[in-house]
Amino acid sequence: MSPRRGTDRFTRKGTEKTRASRRKHQFRGVAVVPGISMGRVHLKFRKTQVLSDRTITDEEIGRELQILGEAVRLSKEQLIVARERVAQEIGELEATIFDTHIAILEDRAFMAKIQAAVQRDHKPVEVVVSVVVEGYYQTMSMVEDEHLRERAADIRDIGLRLLDNVHNLKNQNKDLSEAIDREVPEGDVVFARELLPSDIATLERRHVAGVVTEAGSGRGHCAVMLRALNIPTVMGVEDLATVVRDGDFVIVDGSSGQVHVNPRKDVVDGYRAALKDFESYRNLLTSEVELPAHTTDEHYVKLMANISQASDVHQAKLYRMDGVGLYRTEFQLMARTHYPDEEDQYRVYRDVVEAVDGKPITIRTMDIGTDKNLDYLKLPEEENSALGRRSIRLAFDLEDFQLTQLRAILRASVHGEVRLMFPFITSVEDVRLAKRLLRQAQRQLESTGVPFDPDIPIGIMVEVPAAALSMDKFAREVQFFSVGTNDLVQYVCAADRNQSDVAPWYKGYNPGVLQLLKHIVETAKAYNRPLTVCGEMAGDPFYTMFLVGIGCDQLSMSAPQMPLVKKIIRSINLAGAQRLVERALQYSSTGQIRHLFQDTVEQILGRDLTAWTKKTD
Ligand code: PEP
Ligand code: MG
Repeated sequence: MSPRRGTDRFTRKGTEKTRASRRKHQFRGVAVVPGISMGRVHLKFRKTQVLSDRTITDEEIGRELQILGEAVRLSKEQLIVARERVAQEIGELEATIFDTHIAILEDRAFMAKIQAAVQRDHKPVEVVVSVVVEGYYQTMSMVEDEHLRERAADIRDIGLRLLDNVHNLKNQNKDLSEAIDREVPEGDVVFARELLPSDIATLERRHVAGVVTEAGSGRGHCAVMLRALNIPTVMGVEDLATVVRDGDFVIVDGSSGQVHVNPRKDVVDGYRAALKDFESYRNLLTSEVELPAHTTDEHYVKLMANISQASDVHQAKLYRMDGVGLYRTEFQLMARTHYPDEEDQYRVYRDVVEAVDGKPITIRTMDIGTDKNLDYLKLPEEENSALGRRSIRLAFDLEDFQLTQLRAILRASVHGEVRLMFPFITSVEDVRLAKRLLRQAQRQLESTGVPFDPDIPIGIMVEVPAAALSMDKFAREVQFFSVGTNDLVQYVCAADRNQSDVAPWYKGYNPGVLQLLKHIVETAKAYNRPLTVCGEMAGDPFYTMFLVGIGCDQLSMSAPQMPLVKKIIRSINLAGAQRLVERALQYSSTGQIRHLFQDTVEQILGRDLTAWTKKTD
């Protein structure tokens, strides 16, 4: 079963265990988002800070102290508001915790120590705050007196709040692109027991350089979102809480799944060199964004984007997407505290449709269930949720919600070239029921004279083996197909995409999966239905040649994956790709096929692509 909300996050107790075993330096987990990041550990799930450990000049000292004063003032204000709210909503006793925090901020000795260190050591205020706070924390958490030990945790909490505010003050005027494009992503590395898609939906994304979690297998929706954000990520690292502390320096290698905590200098130097190489190749690829995506013998492949919100469109446009192949609408539903009404959803979809500037966009109706929960719906727990009432099955149960969403999407359809897609279709009855609801939504809009596109193309996700094996039947019902390889692999291989201990069975390289993909693409062609591959496989450089070889001409992926996939397409010819398919389908071992794909593409590009894909696949 996939992890559920409510499982323990890091606790203070967890971080206290840390001191006992700080000698441990290296861990291995599941490589989830390729790439390297370096930065400071940020435990739990809070806003981020970037600790830039540089030396400041005499002139800068005044400004740093001013920021400190402002951060203290802001922190106090926040604490007073929080205190009032907690007193009203929970109780006076619970609210007294904030009195302690305010008292720490008013403690002259504590503040004087920070001010003196900024002046003496010429370090930015955020660095000094973390060092001083850590010093207090260490000393206080070792004393006998229980009351004082508890205050140690308060000191750490207040330190994090101060850091947040210092960070926000310093970054007030920086825009998103500056943060994303910075050369060396040295920001916070978020360490958590687990992250859920709703966490990512509300994450202060800009300064998160990397993510490491104890739970997760890298196939879930969290991983999908982190990939879209291009944040190097490692999941499934056991017992993190016993060895890491806030502020530890860490290297996350999202390609090999390694995490180095407080590494030796030679390790850091090695990674810096690798990062430089990775960045320079990325810059080269980015400089080629204007080039068309076709093979050397001119077979064009459309590169579409997978998005979950309007800001993803902005990024995909930078990479010159041909349109949006998959808009996952459930993430905007997950970021709410209640189900949004039609008007509210309409505005969201309209903004996204307008943002794609007239290019085609496929909007998928809500795909809820397993790790994508809407807390406010209070859905019953299921023993085996991946095989349960998820996605379209749930939409049939929640007819009013589905109708509301359909009306909102239909209304947005007049603002661009919108296609509508139903997820997790198993049988023709599913499609018919989904279309019946669609007609109902259309009639509701007609009755009030609200405009929509009456000819909106309808498609389905092919992600359940039963649907994949009977696409001829579906071809009469729908205008297009989209292959969800994430779920398809899960169901063909019978391995939960969210469970790390079955990862060895969850393999896109499995010959059964590859055969089925070939069959899917051929059937769609035989029935003259456009087909897109929109699962993670579409953006994985090792699969590009295979997918082109079986005849895929539309691939939809997270925007950051587009430049490399395009580079590969531009370096191969169709006949060569078809030969690779033939060879691969003769092999019986998953490992052999992976090597064949990797070796072939690396030879063609003349470079090692280890850092660009996940070693554990
Ligand atoms: C898939 O299953 O491949 C897919 C694209 O949908 P999701 O990852 O949202 O389940
Ligand atoms: Mg799916």
